[in-house]
Parts: sequence; structure tokens; C-alpha cells
Amino acid sequence: MKSKSKIALVTILIGIIFIQGICVWAALSQKPSEVKTASGNAVSQTVAEPVPTTAAPKIKLSSQELKIYCKDSAQLRTVIGYAAEWVSSDPETVSVDEKGNLTANKAGTVTIKAIDKNGNEAECSVISQKVAYLTIDDWPNKHTITMLETFKKYDVKATFFLAAQRTHHDIYKMIADEGHTVGNHSYSHNYESIYKNSTSLINSIDRQNAFLESVTGSKPAMVFRFPGGSTQGKCRAHGTTYPRLLKENGYQIFDWTTTSGDVSAKADADYCLNNIKKQCVRDREIILMHNKEHTAKAMPQIIEYLWSQGYEIAPITKVTASYCFVLDKK
Ligand SMILES: [Zn+2]
Repeated sequence: MKSKSKIALVTILIGIIFIQGICVWAALSQKPSEVKTASGNAVSQTVAEPVPTTAAPKIKLSSQELKIYCKDSAQLRTVIGYAAEWVSSDPETVSVDEKGNLTANKAGTVTIKAIDKNGNEAECSVISQKVAYLTIDDWPNKHTITMLETFKKYDVKATFFLAAQRTHHDIYKMIADEGHTVGNHSYSHNYESIYKNSTSLINSIDRQNAFLESVTGSKPAMVFRFPGGSTQGKCRAHGTTYPRLLKENGYQIFDWTTTSGDVSAKADADYCLNNIKKQCVRDREIILMHNKEHTAKAMPQIIEYLWSQGYEIAPITKVTASYCFVLDKK
């Protein structure tokens, strides 16, 4: 009896082990199964293999190196994979938010990393470049032509904030044709009439857009400089109303960070150059100039000086960060 029960027990154990083995084998070898379509044809259906965790997709960035001008912003995107976290090696220089939006706070180079939830990383080097914007205001004249020749020689683009006049329409067109930014500086430039109320201001700006389009053959950029600046008495008397109104209408507003002083009675080429040398100390400079003979004369030295200080000279465009005394000055 004892040996019989032993045999029976061993037989049961072998049976259990055999059945478990069958189950494990069945689980491991899922073969393609056959299913029938509505028309009765048999098609093969393969059960997808689970993706091993060690082979998670690598993430890639839309750019490996990116240059933006100081104070401007841009966005980095992943082209493969999903970034769960964005990290800047130096947020004081260039910060990044959870969507990959960059803000260049000061000049320098940083590494931006995108990290997905599996710990995969992709990185991009971002250069925040020192930049100087040469801006020339009011009415073009023969000195503007001298400046345009200098800009061509040095391969530099500037920004002209233009008011209207009856003469020199060919120079307005030259400015646009040579790739400089044509900005709006109101039609009349008359403080009394343009700053009277919101309607007068918008009318003068609209009229100037139409004038600029008629003389240059293309629509001007949506960039505006208040005649006299946003702190001009008659403009400032309305608080922040006018700058806010223009922003709501899609304009970027540009006052200045440096003035060449070229409208001063004592101004000559050296005076303008020295003012610029004294004031250009920030990573981003917006330089105020006018269509004057001494300004045109100083222009080659102004460009060479700015380059010697590491500035890139760029035209203001729609993506250039606005700078308005009334709204932005800290
Ligand atoms: Zn002006």
C-alpha cells in the first residue's frame, strides 16, 4: 500500500509539472491566429510583440544649434519622442519653459536639454547673441543715400522709422529694395495733431502705411516708433493708452536704449560716435539716429566700433522683442 501511494503521488506531481509546462509554453509561443473577414476570407493576424523597455525611442530636437538675439525668444521642438522636461544649463542667460519656449535674458551660450519620461535626452546649444539695431528716423534725404552706400559696403541692414513728405519718394523705395526694415513713424510727425486722441493717432499711422506702400511697392513692417518717443509729453499725457492701443493693433513698439545725439546743435561725426561708444554697454542696444550729414559720415566708424565690441548688427523685424519706455522700461 505504501509503495502504491508513493507511485500515485509521484504520478500526480509529474502531471502538475507537465500541465504547468504546457501553460508556460503556450504563453510564450503566441502563433499568428486566423480570423475571418466579413466576406469569409481567412486573414492572418499576428499578436504584437511587447516592446522591450530597453529599446524606448530616442528623442531628437528640431535643432542642434540655435542662435537668437539677446532679449528675443524662440521655441525648440522635439521631432522624435516626447519631452517630459526641459532644462537649461544656465537659466539666467537663456531660460526654457515646459513647452520648450526659450527666452534670451543676456548674451551667452547655454545647453538646453529635453528629457523624456524614460530618461532619454536630446540637447541643443543655444547662443544668445549681443545685438545692436541701427535705427534712422524721420524723412529720407541725400544723406540717406550715403548711409545706404555704407550699409551695402559693410553688408549691414538697418531700420528706418519713416514719416511722410512730398519729395524723395525714390529714396523710400531704395531703402525697401535694399532690404532694410521700413517702419512706421506716423504720417505727419506733428505732436499736436497725432497725440490729440486715439483716433488721430491711428489715422496718422494708417495713412502712413498707405503712403509707405505706395512709394515702396510693399507693405511696411508692423513696427512703430512714436515721434519724440513714447515719453514725449503729449503722448505720455495719455498714460499707457497709446502704447497699449498699438500693441492691440498688432504693432511692435521701439523706443531706444542709446541716442547718437545727432539732432544736437553741437553734433558732428565724432560727437555721434562718442555718444554711441559711451552708451552702448548692454547686450542689446537700439540706437537712435536721424538722416543727418554727420551721422552718415560717422556710420562706417559706428559699424566698426559695434563689431569690435562683439555686437551683431541686425534689422528690427516682427519677431524682435518690443522696447517701449512706458511699458517695458524696468
Ligand atoms: Zn521723429
